[in-house]
Amino acid sequence: MTDHQSDIFADALQRLESAAVHAAVDPETITRLRQPEQVIQVAVPVRMDDGSLKVFSGYRVRYNSTRGPTKGGLRYHPQVDMGEVKALAFWMTFKCAVVGIPYGGGKGGVSVNPKELSRMELERLSRSFIARIAPFIGPDTDIPAPDVYTNATIMGWMADEYAKIAGKQQPGVITGKPLALGGSLGRDDATGRGAYYCIKQLERLKRWDPSRIRVAVQGWGNAGQHVARLLHADGYRIVAASDSRGGIYKPEGFDVPSLIHFKNETRQLKGVYCKGSVCELIDHQPVTNEELLELDVDLLLPSAVENVITEENAARIKAPFIVELANGPVTSAGDAILQQQGKLVVPDILANAGGVTVSYFEWVQNRAGLSWELEEVHSRLQTIMTREFGAIYQLMEEIGTDMRTAAYTHALRRLGDAIQASGTMGWFTDSE
Ligand code: NAP
Repeated sequence: MTDHQSDIFADALQRLESAAVHAAVDPETITRLRQPEQVIQVAVPVRMDDGSLKVFSGYRVRYNSTRGPTKGGLRYHPQVDMGEVKALAFWMTFKCAVVGIPYGGGKGGVSVNPKELSRMELERLSRSFIARIAPFIGPDTDIPAPDVYTNATIMGWMADEYAKIAGKQQPGVITGKPLALGGSLGRDDATGRGAYYCIKQLERLKRWDPSRIRVAVQGWGNAGQHVARLLHADGYRIVAASDSRGGIYKPEGFDVPSLIHFKNETRQLKGVYCKGSVCELIDHQPVTNEELLELDVDLLLPSAVENVITEENAARIKAPFIVELANGPVTSAGDAILQQQGKLVVPDILANAGGVTVSYFEWVQNRAGLSWELEEVHSRLQTIMTREFGAIYQLMEEIGTDMRTAAYTHALRRLGDAIQASGTMGWFTDSE
């Protein structure tokens, strides 16, 4: 294992150990959750446009299926490796339990830089990958979705490939599909919207005047753009934004719709990935991604990749409130420093759970042959996010911890109940 592989999963497991202290679950629950149920590594051959053959490494991890079929996105990124996928699948297990949807956790990905592929190569890669993992996925077993550098277009190719292999339409095998292939209204902005509903609860609890709240967003993709758009519409000041090439800062705040338009109009392939950069906008002060995190703002929204706040820079973070749209943006060591400094961190397994929640709505609609109106999707999402935010905030106050530990404790109790109900040693030793 490389350092990246072992570190990120080991770091994820530390969350389990700290939640175990408060959750009072059967010790066998913890034993069960220390390792994934199934890990799959596949070779993904792709015929390139020039006729040559390339073989990429693909991964799928089904972490725990006690609460339901495993669920989690597929990522295309050069850094994807087994350790990262295991950590992401672990987080998905807890995320689904946090929002109380009947899923276990899974995740997958391909180690590839999709920006170096043509559209046809990207499609061949997506079809080849799904063919390799097809024996392990299915509407009742494991259900993929989009993640970093994958999107609805790619989910559509994958759903089509799976239907060919299965010999029938199986829309419930994958979520985040285009509307035309059984996608759900409201899935496109669900992750940002879920985080927005959490921020609205902070606004209520802390009696914020949105026009005084300065927000920095790291990552200007699906998650980052939508939360920024919704906050901007409510009067929040989005003062900084970044993508993989760097960031921009404007203390008076950006016109967010223009910033989104600029970023998206320069995409090489519509809806597939971006080639343009927010850094190219005029009328701004350039900042690096590292500097953006340390800006004097009120609300920081890491919305790109993991491990960006570590023990190295945590003490320099000025924002008193951090809402994690990215998965795993803060390491355990970084987290400890943020807590010492009294920062309130709304953890990823709650803050970005809007995506998987609306994916669940999509799966429910696919299986029932229904198509919900947008208002219904929004209202159901708001109910779940507001309810679980409230429960976790209250638990945080009751057990006197940070919000992350409270969220893990909340999820671990649900996982513990399910594992216990499915039969553990505790059941056999109970005297009744
Ligand atoms: P996305 O649409 O592919 O966008 C990713 C964004 O992050 C892009 O703007 C990208 O820049 C930027 N980025 C990539 N590497 C970066 C780096 N090293 N530093 C700063 N910015 C960087 O992905 P997404 O769906 O928004 O996902 C972002 C995060 O949210 C991930 O952690 C993902 O797991 C999490 N999440 C997403 C969903 C979902 O439904 N999409 C659900 C839950 C959690 P370029 O545009 O320059 O490439």
